[in-house]
Amino acid sequence: MRVRAMKSIISILTTLQGASRARINYRVLGRLLSGLCVMITVYALAFHGIMMHEGRDFSWLTGFYWTLTVMTTLGFGDITFHSDLGRAFSMLVMISGVFYLLVLLPFAFIEFFYVPWLRAREAARAPRELPPGTRGHVILTRHDPMVDILLEMLDDQGYRGWVLCPTYNEAMELYERNVPVITGDPSDPATWERMRAAEAALLVANGTDMANTNLVFTVRGLTEALPIVSTLATDAARDALELAGASHLIRPEEMMAAALARRVLGTDASAHVIGELGDLVVAEACVANTPLAGKSIAASQLRSKTGITVVGAWDCGTLAPVRPDTVLKAHSVLLLAGSREQIDSYSEAFGHHPIRQSKVIIIGGGNVGQSTARLLEERGIDWTLIERQRRRLGGHPRALLGDATEFDTLVKAGLQEAATVIITTHDDETNLFLTILCRRLRRRLQVITRCTDHSYVDKLHRAGADLVLSYASMMANTIFNFLSPDDTLLLAEGVNLFPSEVPAAWEGLTVGATQVREQTGCSILAAETAAGRTINPPPDLVLPAGGKLVLIGSLKAKTRFVETYFKDRQSRDGAVVRRLKRIFG
Ligand code: AMP
Repeated sequence: MRVRAMKSIISILTTLQGASRARINYRVLGRLLSGLCVMITVYALAFHGIMMHEGRDFSWLTGFYWTLTVMTTLGFGDITFHSDLGRAFSMLVMISGVFYLLVLLPFAFIEFFYVPWLRAREAARAPRELPPGTRGHVILTRHDPMVDILLEMLDDQGYRGWVLCPTYNEAMELYERNVPVITGDPSDPATWERMRAAEAALLVANGTDMANTNLVFTVRGLTEALPIVSTLATDAARDALELAGASHLIRPEEMMAAALARRVLGTDASAHVIGELGDLVVAEACVANTPLAGKSIAASQLRSKTGITVVGAWDCGTLAPVRPDTVLKAHSVLLLAGSREQIDSYSEAFGHHPIRQSKVIIIGGGNVGQSTARLLEERGIDWTLIERQRRRLGGHPRALLGDATEFDTLVKAGLQEAATVIITTHDDETNLFLTILCRRLRRRLQVITRCTDHSYVDKLHRAGADLVLSYASMMANTIFNFLSPDDTLLLAEGVNLFPSEVPAAWEGLTVGATQVREQTGCSILAAETAAGRTINPPPDLVLPAGGKLVLIGSLKAKTRFVETYFKDRQSRDGAVVRRLKRIFG
């Protein structure tokens, strides 16, 4: 009920806004013109009065004729005053004419009539409707850096994404930048019909909580089937969004905090689960403080001891593939895959290793920083939070008021003893500055930095960050996951878990003989044969015709796999045609 009332108030206000602005424009122009008529009439009357004073008499029309020729500075000079009073009056009429007719009226005309008219013409140019026949598309309700990444990912996988923009100015700006955009009022059901919401594959409500609730409610009135993912800034909006009809809710700030806290090294060597596909579990584990540091994968005998597969190792924020001779570095984070039991046996083997209590400094006490602190607290990790706004400190004894860009503040927070610093201010420039500063001050310090704009990822790595978590790409990955929940599982940037049939070219080959890693960059994590499902299949397992596989790899590796082994099917699906169309227009 509350949602319905809120929705109608918002939509009424938006509709009225446009209409009332046009009315105000006409009113201003009307007032100026009436003022001009009154002024001309008063001057024409005064003309007669002063002429009578000079002993002359003219027709009424002459009064208006004289006033207009003087006001417009045309000044034929056929009728002139002879007295000083008359000349002073002529000067007044001339000056007010210049001001009114040559300055005020043209300005008002341009401001209140011409510019709005131009804008309206521009608005008519902004696309308002999806091409007929569009289906299986993804609708996004706000443009931000995350959307650029998501659009690219969608494009890569053969989906088409469209951004809905309520203001035509922004829509035109995006349109000029070749962003697929449609302009329309999100609280108007007609907009969603033009966006072909009923035929879409996914709707992503990524605006404010209020705007999301309003539009989710509107769309649900048209279609029940469409999956809707909505972002959520505060828990208070959870109920409203669920009632409005959102299928999935995500809290970006909480997700970022969990990702930051999970990556803190030197505190916990257990494997932390990051995703599951059926009975296949993927986890991350820190090498630091375990006997694995400095050993090669082959020497570690991880496979024989725990049954687990090391899929790769996160090194300075990038997932590097591993070979038997790859030596594990102390600051690496392993990406592991296996069954739940295999993951548990890894944690049993390495999770209990003596943990050096190490301090974590969190810079930035916004929602992300505070949630990170709470999660570290839950894990019993010592932390200090630096925040420059007193009201955000929340009176916590471990929070320190100060500007982290100042050396003294960092020292006071204990940077010299810390093992990890998490930089999580909202400003990428500040994060870059702080990354350089912390790296300069301590060479052997784990620096984890959050960034909002994806273009900062490389810069932050070069500045010395061990791990950069991009808000935009984390969100894009998460949202992408909702498109095919039973199919592909995107665990993190560059980690993509997907099922496949055994390609015809592999039938009868052993897992080792496929050379899947060398050929495509993907790894086989599970194989289903007549004997059942084998997680982490051994190299001598023979792949049967019609068998099923689960593979892991980057999106590019997955595309390479599909293009190498399923070319025929792909062209049948039309995916290749779509790709060629994209490349050659
Ligand atoms: P949010 O974007 O909500 O995660 O908030 C980021 C927080 O970082 C804000 O509370 C800022 O006051 C804080 N912040 C930004 N720059 C600094 C700085 N140089 N030192 C300490 N705190 C900062």
